[in-house]
Amino acid sequence: MSVLFVDSIRFLDTTLRDGEQTPGVSLNPEQKLEIAVKLADIGIDVIEAGSAAASEGERQAIRLISDVGLSAEICTYVRALAEDIDLAADYGADSVHLVVPVSDLHIVKKLRKTREQVAAMAFSAIGHAKDRGLIVELSGEDASRADQSFLCDLFTEGIARGADRLCFCDTVGVLTPEKAAELIPPLATIAPLSIHCHDDLGLGLANTLAALKAGASCAHTTINGLGERAGNTPFEEVVMSLEILYGYQTHIKKEQIYSLASLVSRLTGVPLPVNKAVVGEMAFTHESGIHAHGVIREPTTYESIKPEMIGRKRRIVLGKHSGSASVEAALNERNYTTDATQLKEIVKRIKQLGDEGKRVTDTDLMAIADAVLAIDSKPVIRMRQFTVVTGNNAIPTASVTLEVNGQEITGASSGNGPVDAAMEVLRKSVADVADIRLEEYHVDAIHGGTDALVEVTVRLSKDGKIITSRGARTDIIMASVEAMIAGMNRLLREEHETRGKNPR
Ligand code: MN
Repeated sequence: MSVLFVDSIRFLDTTLRDGEQTPGVSLNPEQKLEIAVKLADIGIDVIEAGSAAASEGERQAIRLISDVGLSAEICTYVRALAEDIDLAADYGADSVHLVVPVSDLHIVKKLRKTREQVAAMAFSAIGHAKDRGLIVELSGEDASRADQSFLCDLFTEGIARGADRLCFCDTVGVLTPEKAAELIPPLATIAPLSIHCHDDLGLGLANTLAALKAGASCAHTTINGLGERAGNTPFEEVVMSLEILYGYQTHIKKEQIYSLASLVSRLTGVPLPVNKAVVGEMAFTHESGIHAHGVIREPTTYESIKPEMIGRKRRIVLGKHSGSASVEAALNERNYTTDATQLKEIVKRIKQLGDEGKRVTDTDLMAIADAVLAIDSKPVIRMRQFTVVTGNNAIPTASVTLEVNGQEITGASSGNGPVDAAMEVLRKSVADVADIRLEEYHVDAIHGGTDALVEVTVRLSKDGKIITSRGARTDIIMASVEAMIAGMNRLLREEHETRGKNPR
C-alpha cells in the first residue's frame, strides 16, 4: 500500500445527484434504483441518491434506494434548512450532504447574507440533522474561492457541533493541483475530508488526486464524469489512476467498471465520448499498423491499462494504417489461414478501402478474405483485359482477353445489362475448354451507399458438379467477374487434378 494516501480511500458517488444535474438528464426512481444497486455492488461507500427537497420523484427514489438495504451508505443533498433535513430523514436516508456556500461571492451575491448568518444556519442545521439521527457531511460550496481562515473556522466549529465529516467543493472547477496541496492539509486535520471537483478546465482528476495525496480521505465522483456543465471527476479515472499510477489498491471491483459505465450511459441517454479515458469506445481500439503490431506481440507496448481489468476487450480495427500483422491476427481470430501472397492481397484491398475513407468492418474483412482465398495460385484461367460498355444508346457489351491453359482467347458478348454481358463473355470464352453454366447469381451491398463493398456470389455447374464462389469489390461488375473466374478456375482445376490421377 502506498504511503502517499490515507489507509482506505472512500468513494462517494454523486451520479444520482450532481450527475443527474447534467443538462437534459432525468432519471426515474426505478432507473435510479437500478444504478444504485450496481454502485453498491462495485464497492461505492456512499451513494448520494438525490436531493429530497427537489421533487416527489426524488423522494420516491431515495425511499426506494434506502429500502433495499444496500451495503452503501445512502446520502441526500440538503441545504442548511430544517425542512430539507426533515425530508431526508423521513424518506430513509442515512446521511446528509449539507452544502453551505463559503465564498463571499456565494454568500453575498447568491444568498445576500453575511458570513455570520451562513455559519449560524449551518450550525443549526447540523444540530437538527444530528437530532434526526443523520450522519452529517458538512460541505463548503465554492471552497476554492473562499477565505480559507473563515472556512477553517467554520469546519472546526461544525465538527465541534456534531458534524461527522467535511467536504471541500471545487464547485466551478478552478482548483489546481498546487492549490490543493496547499489548501487541503490544514482542513484534513480537522476531520475526515472529502474532495468534490468539477471538470470545467479538465483538471477534475488531477485536482482530486492532489487532494487525496494532501490528506483527503474520500473522493466525490460520478460515473463517466457526468455532472453540471463539464461534469464532475470521473470515478473510473480516479480508481484506475490510483491503482495503475500510484500502486494504491482500492476496494473497487474494477472488472465491473465498463458495464456500470455502459448502464449509466444507456439510462441517462448521455453517450460516452468515443475517446473518453478508460471507458470510451476507442480506449482499447488499435488501428495504426505499428501500434497494433506492438500490442499483439506485447500489450504493454501501447496499453497502460489491461482491458480485462475493467471488463473490456482489446479491439483491432483495420484500415489504411493496418499492417499485415494486425490483418493476419484479425484473420486468425476468424479462423482464416492465408499464405504470404494471399495476406498481401488482402492487406492491399483493405488499404484501398481505407484510402476511400472507409472503416473496414468484420463483415468486410471476411468478404475480402473469402474472395482472395478463392483465387487460384496456379490458375487455369488468367484475365488479361476486361472492358464493359453500357449506356442509354448502347447495347451492354463486354469484351475480354483470357489466358486459358497458356493460350490467349479474346471474345465479346452482349447482354441484358453490363453484368449479364460480362458473365456471358466469360462463359463463352471458356466454352471450348469446358461447358460451365451460371446457375445462380446473387449480390449483396455490405453497407448502405453506392460506394460500399459489394459481395457477389455465383453458383456454377459443369457436368453436374456444382460449386459456389464469391467476389468482393466496390465495383459490382469487377466483383462479378472475380467471382466467376474464381469459380471457373476451381471447376477446371478439379477436372485437371482428376485427369492427372487417371494414368496411375
Ligand atoms: Mn457539484
